[in-house]
Amino acid sequence: ATPTALLVGTGRGAQLGVLVKGPEVLESARKVDTIVLDKTGTVTTGRMTVTSVHTEAAEEDVLRLAGSVEEASDHPIGAAIATTAVRRLGELPTVQGFHSIHGCGVRGVVDGHTVLVGRTELLVRHGVTVPEDLGNAKEAAELTGRTTVLVAWDGVARAVIVVSDTLRPSSAQAVRDLRALKLRPVLLTGDNETVARAVANELGIDDVIAGVDPAGKVAAIERLQRDGHVVAMVGDGVNDAAALATSDLGLSMGTGTDAAIEAGDISLVRGDLLAAVDAVRLSRRIFTTIR
Ligand code: ADP
Ligand code: MG
Repeated sequence: ATPTALLVGTGRGAQLGVLVKGPEVLESARKVDTIVLDKTGTVTTGRMTVTSVHTEAAEEDVLRLAGSVEEASDHPIGAAIATTAVRRLGELPTVQGFHSIHGCGVRGVVDGHTVLVGRTELLVRHGVTVPEDLGNAKEAAELTGRTTVLVAWDGVARAVIVVSDTLRPSSAQAVRDLRALKLRPVLLTGDNETVARAVANELGIDDVIAGVDPAGKVAAIERLQRDGHVVAMVGDGVNDAAALATSDLGLSMGTGTDAAIEAGDISLVRGDLLAAVDAVRLSRRIFTTIR
């Protein structure tokens, strides 16, 4: 394509809410054959709400301790838990020694209790086992596509908090459009396999890579590249930044974190997956008509 065509393309992109870092980006977009989609905040809105708490402890204690740790978190799950806790209990105690393990969960000390909120792996890593009743409650919620997190304090797993997220209204259409453009969609998530499968089924996606931390997301992209694919990745989170940088074409949701936006080649201003379809169409149009 001529420099003029690229510039026109870049300008057209801006009108569509597809902000391209540099004109050369459109050239890589044309060659993409696989599109990896992050789940939370990308195909879903990422605006989560707490739907239930399963516990034998007092629900107030669960919400107070988990809520005060999550107040320090910038994750959508954390926001949901903190908001629910504040609404129920008012002001929460301040967390000490807050630590976030990206794609896994959070840890902090509240009122002298060491509190963990996150995936099973987070608890295991801290030597905490998950009793059968909590494991069952967790599994049952996940089969319906809900995300769950475990809460532990003082070395004992105490609760399962169930949060629900909703698909962005246009995600299913975007997946259909991407397929029509001969792109293979792959769902990639730090969330577990059960939840990921339920969401993938709703969207008509066959390929799922679940339960991966940020390094695992990078490894997944590299594996696809080694298999000869040219890979686009769409993501929104801090946990997606490295994978976006590794992919051949990184697309970040404009509604996402700064880290993701910086790591991407294209920013989708509308925060809508259909803009990813526009980006691919646009690059193909430029490179087929003008040559
Ligand atoms: P995705 O890849 O779908 O965007 P993340 O990688 O952000 O999801 O999160 C993966 C998993 O890590 C979550 O499903 C949750 O179990 C856990 N997790 C991450 N951050 C937190 C947090 N602040 N509080 C509790 N759990 C968390
Ligand atoms: Mg995300």
